[in-house]
Amino acid sequence: TNFSELGLQEDLLKAISDLGFESPSEVQAQAIPILLEKDTDLVALAQTGTGKTAAFGFPLIQKINLDQRHTQGLILSPTRELCLQITNEFQNYGKYSSGLRTVAVYGGASITDQEKQIKKGAQIIVATPGRMKDMLKRGMIDISQLAYCVLDEADEMLNMGFYEDITDILAHSPKEKSTWLFSATMPKEVSNIAKKFMNSPKEITV
Ligand code: AMP
Repeated sequence: TNFSELGLQEDLLKAISDLGFESPSEVQAQAIPILLEKDTDLVALAQTGTGKTAAFGFPLIQKINLDQRHTQGLILSPTRELCLQITNEFQNYGKYSSGLRTVAVYGGASITDQEKQIKKGAQIIVATPGRMKDMLKRGMIDISQLAYCVLDEADEMLNMGFYEDITDILAHSPKEKSTWLFSATMPKEVSNIAKKFMNSPKEITV
């Protein structure tokens, strides 16, 4: 397979070509058609280094409405470093998707600066669970129109003690959204989250 056969649109294909990605990795080949086809929940068992960021990033960028500024996609990720890495990758993926704004929020940095970035409009927020919950509680972020939620490295987030923050965020987000969960392993806490917050997810393993 090549990327154009997966159903990705021209702006993304151009960015992919600039990145020098020649063909989809296994998780990309499996996940992208599922995520593009219709709004569905997905559980993907995939290690880091398999290309999973693009596996959720390309479909997410294609699905959001770039004419609107409100937050449509939320990616929860375990660490500040990962949030910044994902945000940086999204700049590359979205370089021809005009109007796209992706903002990272994470602890240990100024919350008012992050609020200002969000207020300028951010269709996609990449967040650590603790800071995300804090900003929600303070009314600094509006996820009332959230359509896509990605749980990246779900097992790591739970290892780090984010269970309550994650379930809180999910409980306060719209019910009619799609949730995409990526995890290297499937311990009980992860399958609990899937059971509680996901709607007959499709499952893939790479
Ligand atoms: P990830 O698993 O998302 O952290 O990606 C691991 C690395 O693989 C990153 O440096 C990506 O830029 C790179 N990568 C992702 N997809 C592809 C692809 N289809 N072809 C070549 N490199 C890729």
